[in-house]
Formats: sequence, C-alpha cells, structure tokens
Amino acid sequence: MTEEEIKKSRYSLPTIKGFVDGIHFRFYCSFCKKFHAHGQGRSGATLWHGHRLSHCDDSPYKKGGYYLKEYTQKELKLMKRWIDSMLNK
Ligand SMILES: [Zn+2]
Repeated sequence: MTEEEIKKSRYSLPTIKGFVDGIHFRFYCSFCKKFHAHGQGRSGATLWHGHRLSHCDDSPYKKGGYYLKEYTQKELKLMKRWIDSMLNK
C-alpha cells in the first residue's frame, strides 16, 4: 500500500488495541489464537502506533493490515483488577 492508500484506509481498516511491553507492541489475535508483536514505531507522543501489515498466517487482516493503538492507563488498571482477581482464585 502507498502512503496515500493508507491514509484513505484510516476509517476502513480495523484499529487493534494492545500494550507495549517495553520493546514490542503486542496484541492477542483472535484469528491466529496467539499474540503478535510489532515494533513500536512512533512511541511516546501518542497512544497511536500507526499502520502495520498483518503478521497473520491467514486472517481478514491480511488485506490492508491494521492500525495499532495502546490501551490507556485507565483501561490497563481496569484489566489489572480483573486479572488480579483471576490470579487470586
Ligand atoms: Zn493473526
């Protein structure tokens, strides 16, 4: 895809939320049933990490890729609460 095609696709391609583990942006892919890792790209300034081509073997993401966005601190804290409660079972 050219830069222009990527810009036009901003509202038609999916945005996938995930987290940064210090090195990689990671998210769980519901099609591949595993975590995918991408380079962070533009980090720090915003939660958006930009457009990426899919790392999937076979999924709808193969056509056009997706956009990556980090979870907010508020979302991470909420998930931490849920995870902590599951780990304490
Ligand atoms: Zn995948």
